[in-house]
Amino acid sequence: PRGLRPQVSHPRWVRVNLLKANMDDVMRQLDEHLQSTEKRNPQQDGNRQQQMEKRKHQKAVAAMQQQEQQQERQSRVVLDALLPDLLALPPGTDLHDHPLVTRGSVVLQSKASCMPARALNPEPGWTVVDCCAAPGNKTTHLAAIMGNKGRVLAFDKDPKRLARLRSNAVLTGASCIEARLADFLSLDPTAPEFREVRGVLLDPSCSGSGTIFTRMDHLLPSHRIRGTAAARAGAAGVIEAATEAHAPCTSPTSAPTSTAVMGKKTKKNDNNNNNKVDKAAQQQELDAPNRDPGLAQLSPQVHERDAVEAARVSQLARFQAAALSHALRFPFLERLVYSTCSVHVEENEAVVAGALQEAAEAGLELADPFPSWHRRGLPLFPGAEKLVRTDAYQDGTDGFFIALFRRRPPEKEVNM
Ligand code: SAM
Repeated sequence: PRGLRPQVSHPRWVRVNLLKANMDDVMRQLDEHLQSTEKRNPQQDGNRQQQMEKRKHQKAVAAMQQQEQQQERQSRVVLDALLPDLLALPPGTDLHDHPLVTRGSVVLQSKASCMPARALNPEPGWTVVDCCAAPGNKTTHLAAIMGNKGRVLAFDKDPKRLARLRSNAVLTGASCIEARLADFLSLDPTAPEFREVRGVLLDPSCSGSGTIFTRMDHLLPSHRIRGTAAARAGAAGVIEAATEAHAPCTSPTSAPTSTAVMGKKTKKNDNNNNNKVDKAAQQQELDAPNRDPGLAQLSPQVHERDAVEAARVSQLARFQAAALSHALRFPFLERLVYSTCSVHVEENEAVVAGALQEAAEAGLELADPFPSWHRRGLPLFPGAEKLVRTDAYQDGTDGFFIALFRRRPPEKEVNM
């Protein structure tokens, strides 16, 4: 059905590993690769020519299309406008066996997945913690941004995934990574060994709903309801519920165990914020274009599956909230990035909302990592405009969510 494919095709995104290669060389080699693949595949060329012929006969658009084709030829390998180490190649370009990939000079990583490490932007020499790191795409990216200067402490609790991280680190020459098998929640961020930690990347397990071409305004009905219900509950309600999920920062097991708890809690604050957020929810409904009316008549099996998914999302959200709370406890943090590849409010804005108070107490505030980026967090609380979202349907990359917390600059002393 319509809605399961992105409106904008996703390019083949390629992250250039600056530890092993430079942009110009990689661009030249990839361009040569594209040209030689075309030569080897005359059938495809023939088809393309036929298509071009056809297009020429479509009078109204012929001129424009020729121009587009020309531009396409000139720019087969395109530098991304936002991320300096990212290239876009034509959709479907197969590079899995290309020596640049097999030798670790480039990493096949989507644009959205490259945004969290760039949002953190750790400085060379820093000690950085990657809390839930495997298989390490973002860890190796952090190492590259730091030019291998400093330390990246990479934790994961899954031994097989950590083994993949280790081999990715070797492949990409990311020698400043120290991979450790550990449950991040069981670490003590205030221990002396973490005194040097200045940056934290928290990219925890999530529903992955952003990677399956779902769209914020085009979700299954109960996803939509879950998102808007959270909004209807009122920003303070969302904040309080998520804060409660945060409270037991060393023991996530005592976090609330059902969405009912969240529902009950949120009622208390109806009077304060309901109107404001209701408007946001209504606007969201109004703004949703192209809604597929067929989605309204889903079978009971689909509803059942959806209920199971809702419970899974809530469980993940409780873990994410506990992990963010824990990550905020590193005492000398300068920057922290929280990211997911989920589209759900519950895993994104609600988790951040629940951590705001704790972040403020730690001297951190929300900051905007990509001021020129167009898609923002849902407007559920003041400051949500600093949050970043990507949309799998419209942005040519996976659906992601990114929040950057940064140390508040010291207030200037006023001389009286
Ligand atoms: N950042 C990774 C990357 O870019 O390659 C992807 C991380 S993946 C979304 C989440 C990871 O968190 C999984 O590898 C999972 O094993 C790990 N994880 C989940 N719970 C954890 C915990 N309590 N402590 C440490 N790692 C955990």
